[in-house]
Amino acid sequence: MAEVQCVKCGKAGEPLTDPIFMGKLEAEIKAKVCKACWKQWEGMRVMVINEYQINLGDESGRELVKKHMRSFLNLGEAVDSSKVAENYKPVQ
Ligand SMILES: [Zn+2]
Repeated sequence: MAEVQCVKCGKAGEPLTDPIFMGKLEAEIKAKVCKACWKQWEGMRVMVINEYQINLGDESGRELVKKHMRSFLNLGEAVDSSKVAENYKPVQ
C-alpha cells in the first residue's frame, strides 16, 4: 500500500482511505496526513468543541473547528489552543 508523507508526525505512514467528509479539504488532508494523526485529531476535535463551546450549527463555529484542525495537523497557521493543551494528553 502506498504511504503518505505526513506533515503532522513527519513520517511516512498509513494513508487515510475512509471518507472523512471534509469537502474540498479532503484531498489535501489525505495527501498530507497519515491515518494515525487523523485519529489524533478526531480525539482533539471533541476537546476543541467542548473547551471552546463551539456551536457546529454556526458557519463561524465550523470555520473555527477547521482552523484548529489545520493548525493541529500543520496544514495552516497556528491558532491559540492553549485552553485545550492544558487538558490534552497526546496518545503515543
Ligand atoms: Zn502522521
